[in-house]
Amino acid sequence: MNTHEPTSAPSISGENGDKLPDTGTLKPTLIGLDHDQLGAALASIDVKDKQLRMRINQLWNGLYARGLTKFDDLHTISKDLRRKLAEHYTIERPQIVTEQLSNDGTRKWLLRFKSDIPGKPGPEAEMVYIPEETRGTLCISSQVGCTLNCRFCHTGTMPLVRNLTAQEIVGQVMLARDRLGDWPLLEADDKSGLPDSRRMITRLVLMGMGEPLYNFDHVKKAASILSDDAGINLSHRRITLSTAGVVPQMQRAGAEIGCMLAVSLHATNDKLRDELVPINRKYPLQELMQACRDYPGLSNARRITFEYVMLDGINDSIEDAKTLVQLLKGIPAKINLIPFNPWPGSPYQCSDWAQIERFADLINEAGYASPIRRPRGRDIMAACGQLKSASERVSNRERKALLEE
Ligand code: SAH
Repeated sequence: MNTHEPTSAPSISGENGDKLPDTGTLKPTLIGLDHDQLGAALASIDVKDKQLRMRINQLWNGLYARGLTKFDDLHTISKDLRRKLAEHYTIERPQIVTEQLSNDGTRKWLLRFKSDIPGKPGPEAEMVYIPEETRGTLCISSQVGCTLNCRFCHTGTMPLVRNLTAQEIVGQVMLARDRLGDWPLLEADDKSGLPDSRRMITRLVLMGMGEPLYNFDHVKKAASILSDDAGINLSHRRITLSTAGVVPQMQRAGAEIGCMLAVSLHATNDKLRDELVPINRKYPLQELMQACRDYPGLSNARRITFEYVMLDGINDSIEDAKTLVQLLKGIPAKINLIPFNPWPGSPYQCSDWAQIERFADLINEAGYASPIRRPRGRDIMAACGQLKSASERVSNRERKALLEE
């Protein structure tokens, strides 16, 4: 059980996020920088070489272990250096446009990131926190919008606006910890931090907007900062990256990022998968399943999670369940059955519950764990595949013109 409650959230704004200042200050934020980048930031304000390592560690501790939001609270460094830091940098997180609380305790935030075009509002993406009895999962976005166009996914109806940077990915987690009161060392003056049982966020899933493997470098860097045990300390095993099947990057993801893998399967034959998850036309099932077999570090203790959305009359027959079992042969796997979450204008219906259970039983009897994911946060459109923001794509030509104005 999580024994501490989230700090009560002040009501941030209702519908009209546009009342918020556009982009925060113009100073760059230190949030989401790695060791080398923090070193460069410190060097730029005249911290000398021989002090650099120590100062980086102090900043790292202040930002990532303690979650400080003001330079003034960084008591380990001199007043003079704190002043200089504040003159040139901020420790701002992404902005919250709206915060919604579902009647099942799920929280959803619409976040606004810094604009890279003067005068234009920054792009927006959603983030969701799902509290459970013994753990809490934070679902973050890796892109604003998406290129994949999966037929059943609301985000898929949005164009790709842009990739999120490593700073913005780390910033999401830090902001969620701020809002949930989940910075251990601020409350307990204890170097080991809060025990797991008292942490609000125990797991991170890259299952929000976007395809993380199409934003590989930023996701990799963010995962390395988030897992650092002298800071945020969410180990790679607690971070799950979900992909629709970007086959050429899967091997690299296992070898270089080393996090847990989830694969959005959703169909057991190429004809249907081509339609539901169009990236299948590029990387068909056979290649995808081979990439799963080859995923580095796979074992019974480190299984791949296969996500399978239950669409009434489309992919939910007993035949489908049998083919699924055949496909998974030889892969240490768990199958997450996701009841389809509807959205305005969505072209599918959710399978009926009895059918989902029959499907689950068959897979279970073949020896695979096949939990049915209880829909969470549907009332605030926070469930899988319901995320969307109104951010618009700015073409390179428009971007150039705006920057030249
Ligand atoms: N692009 C990545 C990350 C998105 S994760 C991926 O495809 O894996 C979001 C998960 O929710 C994916 O498994 C996605 O297929 C699933 N999903 C999308 N729309 C959904 C919906 N309407 N109902 C249930 N699950 C959905």
